[in-house]
Amino acid sequence: MADTLQFQAEVQQLLDLVVHSLYSDRDVFLRELISNASDALDRARFLGLSRDDLRSADGEPAIKLRFDKALGTLTVSDNGVGLTREQAIEHLGTIARSGTKAFAQALKERGTSAEGLIGQFGVGFYASFMVADRVEVHSMSAEPGAEAIRWASTGGGTFELDSGNRSTRGTDVVLHLRDNSLEYADKYRIRDIVEKHSQFIAYPIELDDERINSEAALWRRDPREVEEAEYKSFYKHVAGDWQDPQAWVHFRAEAPLEFAAILYVPQQRPTDLDYPDRKNGLKLYQQRVMVLEHAEQFVPRYLRFVRGVVDAPDVSLNVSREMLQNTPVVNTIKKQVVKRTLRRLKELANEDEPAYLNFWESFGSTLKEGIAEDGDNRDQIAPLLRFRTTKGDGWRDLATIKAERVEGQDAIWYITGTDADRIRSSPQLEAFRKKGWEVLLLSDPVDEWVVMNLPSFETVEIKSVARGDLPANDDPIAEEAKKQAEPFVNWLGGLLSGQVSEVRTSSRLTDSPAVLVDSDKGVSANLERILRSARQDGPKAQRILEINPEHPLVRRLVTAQADGQGAPNEPLARLLLDYAQIAEGTLTDHAGFARRLQAIMLSAGAQA
Ligand code: ADP
Repeated sequence: MADTLQFQAEVQQLLDLVVHSLYSDRDVFLRELISNASDALDRARFLGLSRDDLRSADGEPAIKLRFDKALGTLTVSDNGVGLTREQAIEHLGTIARSGTKAFAQALKERGTSAEGLIGQFGVGFYASFMVADRVEVHSMSAEPGAEAIRWASTGGGTFELDSGNRSTRGTDVVLHLRDNSLEYADKYRIRDIVEKHSQFIAYPIELDDERINSEAALWRRDPREVEEAEYKSFYKHVAGDWQDPQAWVHFRAEAPLEFAAILYVPQQRPTDLDYPDRKNGLKLYQQRVMVLEHAEQFVPRYLRFVRGVVDAPDVSLNVSREMLQNTPVVNTIKKQVVKRTLRRLKELANEDEPAYLNFWESFGSTLKEGIAEDGDNRDQIAPLLRFRTTKGDGWRDLATIKAERVEGQDAIWYITGTDADRIRSSPQLEAFRKKGWEVLLLSDPVDEWVVMNLPSFETVEIKSVARGDLPANDDPIAEEAKKQAEPFVNWLGGLLSGQVSEVRTSSRLTDSPAVLVDSDKGVSANLERILRSARQDGPKAQRILEINPEHPLVRRLVTAQADGQGAPNEPLARLLLDYAQIAEGTLTDHAGFARRLQAIMLSAGAQA
């Protein structure tokens, strides 16, 4: 007796779209099924490494395609790990894979049109319903004792589950083709699709007992003989991406260590790149057989977006994964992977700026981590960085910024903050604007670690505009104003002690009366904020209030005090700190500020 079960609601929604969409590249359904078959074979092999009680396969691992023109069917078979009854319910009744989840999410955000989305995310098994109005899955799990099952559905709200008649481990997916899809029950059509989409599956794909995918591993071939299109299609296979890669590098080494690798940089940042449970790394092969799907030990964290394969016959797999981390062989390969990737990125930056900037916008914030993480390669990474600066709206690199420094500009300056617009209009930049000095605008949290670990670029110091004193501008009028302001500054220092660590006159300001800056020592205010928002206890930043002695308001306060008219207007003086806090977005004493503002308004009103 067959059970009838409901699809999960999301699957149903997905199926409606798949069935009714006018998606033009329906061919991808076959790629999805072949890739599932290949995964099932991989999984059987991995399981077999640690267990000897599994059902054995009938012959060598292979994927077999069969069609029947008269019946209008196409069957994809494998002798891999198979599905138990529970697995069939779970995997073919709910949305399990992250790509399909992302698809469902994108659909929700976009409304109803699936056009373009199917190709973008790949909907896996469910893509079958683009071309079939009935799909049957016959499977026997490799688990000893598991019974054979038959799963069937027409893509409506339900699927049937029954006991099946497959007698060896593995899975047959039988597609009953729709009337408008009978073209797929055809030898040439199938060959053509496999060649285009599944060329690099490591297992034989057989049609009429003939292997139709290529036998030679791409990475073992001479790079000069591999076509661009082959690299691109291989990328889609290894990375499971629908887009072309942004760039790749293929290299082989002989002595003292034999290995080969193809490394790819994707075009688009995967949405889950920073999720802790995301699996990164390269596929590790030994003699054409994949032995680890996500070998993370060959790529440092800051290059976690790199995809590809490494084939290393000498890596011993008898050791645990943790041990694999530090063997000399692994370290040698990792060094090469880093070196080649950084070199390739440098080439890309030199040869194709728009492509490089596209890379940067996708992965720049990840690559930046390397400045802190990989001291050995800091000098290779620094020229790859791109920044927003006070000069124009485009991306700028350190070499250009260094070369275009103006007379008297001894350093490369930066400002950090959490809000890009706010730092662009910060009073801390006033003097820099006046002098025409370019300033890096750093609003990415990781930037604090970048500048902490990058004190200079090619001998030019990299300094914060918000830290320490600025070189005085040898302007006699300004110097005179500073001197006159001293008694007021001392008085204000007393008034605000407890709120700031120091009050002093400033050389940074032209238009604003006051600004808060960081002291030479200790953490910056921005870093303190970042740590706090990450709920980490950190040291407190020491803030200094700098006063613009030439500002009319400050001048008035200074004069009032000098004229002996008693202490300066206290609410007005305190407003200088309020002002500086508002400008940088850190005002917290709103009630106090409102009171002071009211006092000023009242006295202005009295004069009006
Ligand atoms: P994905 O393959 O990306 O996980 P699919 O929707 O294509 O997503 O497949 C869902 C799940 O169904 C797979 O993860 C796998 O567990 C199971 N599955 C699909 N095809 C097979 C197969 N040929 N053999 C064994 N399990 C399979």
